[in-house]
Amino acid sequence: MFDYIVVGAGSAGCVMANRLSENPGKRVCLVEAGPPDKSPLIHIPLGLALLARAGGIKWDFNTEPERELNNRKLYWPRGKTLGGSSSVNAMIYMRGHPADYEGWALAAGSDWGWERARKIFLAMESNVAIFGVHHGKQGPLTVSNLVHPNPLSRAFVEAGIECQFPDNRDFNGVSQEGVGLYQVTQKEGRRFSSARAFLDPVRGRVNLTVETGALVERVLFENRRATGLRLRGRDILLRYGGEVIVCGGAVNSPQLLMLSGIGPGEELSHHGIEVVHDAREVGANLADHLDIGVLAATRGREAIGVAPSFLPRAIRSAWTYMRHKTGELTSNVAEAGGFVKSDPLRERPNLQFHFLPALMRDHGRKTSFGYGVTLHVCDLLPKSRGRIGLASGNPLVAPRIEANYLSHPDDMDVLLNGLKIARRVLEAPAMKRHIKAELLPGPQVQSDQALIADIRARAETIYHPVGTCRMGQDAQSVVDPQARVRGVEGLRVVDASIMPSIIAGNTNAPVMMMAENVSRMMLGQ
Ligand SMILES: Cc1cc2nc3c(=O)[nH]c(=O)nc-3n(C[C@H](O)[C@H](O)[C@H](O)COP(=O)(O)OP(=O)(O)OC[C@H]3O[C@@H](n4cnc5c(N)ncnc54)[C@H](O)[C@@H]3O)c2cc1C
Repeated sequence: MFDYIVVGAGSAGCVMANRLSENPGKRVCLVEAGPPDKSPLIHIPLGLALLARAGGIKWDFNTEPERELNNRKLYWPRGKTLGGSSSVNAMIYMRGHPADYEGWALAAGSDWGWERARKIFLAMESNVAIFGVHHGKQGPLTVSNLVHPNPLSRAFVEAGIECQFPDNRDFNGVSQEGVGLYQVTQKEGRRFSSARAFLDPVRGRVNLTVETGALVERVLFENRRATGLRLRGRDILLRYGGEVIVCGGAVNSPQLLMLSGIGPGEELSHHGIEVVHDAREVGANLADHLDIGVLAATRGREAIGVAPSFLPRAIRSAWTYMRHKTGELTSNVAEAGGFVKSDPLRERPNLQFHFLPALMRDHGRKTSFGYGVTLHVCDLLPKSRGRIGLASGNPLVAPRIEANYLSHPDDMDVLLNGLKIARRVLEAPAMKRHIKAELLPGPQVQSDQALIADIRARAETIYHPVGTCRMGQDAQSVVDPQARVRGVEGLRVVDASIMPSIIAGNTNAPVMMMAENVSRMMLGQ
């Protein structure tokens, strides 16, 4: 019997397990559906390029046919191993814009405003490259500069500056706007996932049990109070007064709540699930960053390529990495990027670039032969909203993901401008001298109509779904400002699903910050 049971050892779950097990008098169980994080593809940063093909450590979800995207079913990978998505992500360390958190404060109260968030980011961070008032240096989460940025990533930054975007050396500093190289969650040339930062250091605690390969099928209730979890063939139980903390991520958390009887009553009844609490917004308010890439072949061989001529370099890189943990294998692929406005009249950036010194097709599931670059651009503040629903009452069946991308007409305008701006950057002299030919959308695609058709044919997720168990002060929200699920006792949700609105940036660090914030509330700190 446990005082706390945490479901999901992802970005949020590892932080929760660490903090809640600090008190040796409290017994904590962390339950993870995936296996331990043993694969070298997780730990060697460039392994990311092959992770999309790796089996067993991801949930390989797909959306329902997306109406505005030619009815395509989009691939939605999520991490399924210790560290969750922080073990398969691109390692970019980004907090988002202060205004994002001011929006959260309006929705969920001052405990979620920028002042508090900033303090927590600093306390969690150990930045080994940028110092000063905007960064922490004693926290558990190591943040580094890229060890070996590709020359093309530097050329991209130069090209951005030539386009009059600010030269930004620190996206988490004074201002988010501009172009630059990203900082990464890496330590000494290895991925620093949430599991490495928060779980590994406390694995020896006798009051902490970690179960892997254990899919939670539902939360158990007695008189609307959580009493434990049901797994295949067995239950894990709470001591009286204990709590279950669901950290399954933006897709799995709403699914688990629904399987447990918390969700839209009619939908649950349709799947033969007994309703514990009729909560209409479970699964609703899904927001994500939709992204489109410009691919171009390069003249030289600086890029990370797939070609016989790359082989000697690959062997040298592997040798360097084995000996020193440096060299090209430390690349997070999405090495550079930036934040710009789709329209100069906007108050703050609403587009983000991810620049890859490599050709990337279909999330890396298709091999792109030759040398080239990919410049991704995504809409950071989309107005379209989707939902997660149940496809079945069977916990082994993936939920229905209706992302509803571009269902709000403004979102297409933003992405269209983004695509044009991305092309402009690749046309600037510092990049142009490297480019042999644009491959996609392709030089023949020029009119707005043709570009819109290209977006419909090719846009993909940049992996930041949030909001499906929305946190708020209002009675309709799924969780209250302390992340407690409304309508029942002894149950919280803490992960990307509770974001009141989407962050204008990458979501890993914000999720870890949220988990630390809730831990402090639970521990009365
Ligand atoms: C390919 C990819 C690239 C990304 N790149 C970046 C990046 O560079 N920078 C950045 O900031 N963000 C990035 N992100 C996003 C970021 O990693 C996620 O937003 C963040 O990790 C989400 O954290 P979470 O705690 O909500 O969920 P997760 O980290 O996904 O954790 C959920 C965990 O719960 C487990 N789980 C779920 N259901 C159950 C169940 N029923 N029983 C037991 N266990 C369960 C899962 O297996 C998983 O381990 C990326 C994401 C992906 C997928």
